[in-house]
Amino acid sequence: MKLPIRVRLTAWYAVLLAIILAGLSTFLVLQLRADLEDTVEVEVRSGSLEIARAYQNEGAGDFRDASRTVLPHGSSAAQVVAPGGRVLVAFGEPVASRLLVSKESVARALAGERQTLTVKLGAHRFRAAVVPVQRLGRDRVIVVAESLRHVDESVDRVLLLLLLGLPAALAATAIGGWWLARKALRPVERMTSKAEEIGIDRLHERIAPPRTEDEIGRLALTLNAMLDRLERGVEEKHRLIADASHELRTPLAAMRAELDVSLMDDDLSPPTREVLESTREEVDRMSRIVANLLTLARVDEGRLELLKTRVDLGAAIEEAVRPLQPLAAAKQLRLEVNGARCEADADPQRLNQALTNFIENAIKFSEPGGEVCISAWERNGEVGVTVKDTGPGIPPDARAHVFDRFYRADPARSRAGGGSGLGLSICREVADAHGGRVWVESQEGEGSSFSLALPADRTTI
Ligand code: ADP
Repeated sequence: MKLPIRVRLTAWYAVLLAIILAGLSTFLVLQLRADLEDTVEVEVRSGSLEIARAYQNEGAGDFRDASRTVLPHGSSAAQVVAPGGRVLVAFGEPVASRLLVSKESVARALAGERQTLTVKLGAHRFRAAVVPVQRLGRDRVIVVAESLRHVDESVDRVLLLLLLGLPAALAATAIGGWWLARKALRPVERMTSKAEEIGIDRLHERIAPPRTEDEIGRLALTLNAMLDRLERGVEEKHRLIADASHELRTPLAAMRAELDVSLMDDDLSPPTREVLESTREEVDRMSRIVANLLTLARVDEGRLELLKTRVDLGAAIEEAVRPLQPLAAAKQLRLEVNGARCEADADPQRLNQALTNFIENAIKFSEPGGEVCISAWERNGEVGVTVKDTGPGIPPDARAHVFDRFYRADPARSRAGGGSGLGLSICREVADAHGGRVWVESQEGEGSSFSLALPADRTTI
């Protein structure tokens, strides 16, 4: 079910309360009716006996006097009935002039059975008592009836009040329930939005536990304990990557040096030289990957220290291009370097890493015979480098993500080409660390141009 929990809680609360109130109201109304009818019944029973006694002793005159004294005025009737159902004497309500009960009741009374029954006379119900009596040796029946109009009116009034009051009470309860549920769940909402904010880069942050030591407080503590474990795990992973990359750098540098020495030998046969040169390229590529991993691990640990000096961008480009020349040559790509002479305050090693990643991508993604143009520029308070290629370009929806870590626009092709999705994210980290920025412009099918810009504060031309 997609409804929020506070809506469901409120609905359940209201439904439950409606059932309880409906049950309680039904019980109250039935009980009230029964109690009021009992009171009337007691009155007609005792009244009928008294009236019967008066009639038996003194006749019709006393019957009327007794009726007037005993019965409540205006809502009751009494009559003396002869066997066969003829009304001999009547008192009270106009309905008393005709027989108030059935002839069978009269016959049963004559057989000696006293009865109380409810009869409908005109628009109203009456409670009636039927008692046999003898007057001067003749059998008669006394019928005394009292209207249940007041009972019905009282019950109807209570029913109306309940029908008006219950929906109002229910609405008030639902609003109260909604407010309470919202109040109770507010800490959960706060915790949810905080937990949503905590990404892998903000694992040191914690959820503020509510002051209460209840289930929600325990949930916050549990989530925080989970964050502790996650943070430790991620730290260990970073340390492992950093240590492994660091350890790998020395043997790779040694291999590179040994390959260089071996390649100095003029007596090498052409196939051997080719194998050694290809191995040196692979060692270089591996060194770049290891350097990227180490940089990312340092960024994640918050330890990307910059050793800034004045860097000539043209020289930095030359330095980044040189080791990649063989790669470009292998694909018959033309590498063109041009642009203004400009300087920036930068860490040369990091800048070299970013430029290498840009240029290596340009070479990797260009078709053989294409061109890669690398230029330095200065404008609008920024100095930068742009690497333009004649590759396949980048689809518009992928452009926003190419600088994300592990993002590859075309995973199958990139993996085949040895891509890890880390190169451009390093470029962005390096630019961010220098207070600069990176961006890409691309025309699908016509190539891409990647740029890195640094603030030009102290730049001299
Ligand atoms: P990878 O190691 O996969 O090259 P990057 O972070 O360097 O990782 O690049 C991310 C993705 O951006 C690549 O997989 C590729 O899809 C796209 N990309 C990067 N440079 C270029 C380029 N010059 N031309 C076309 N696509 C590129």
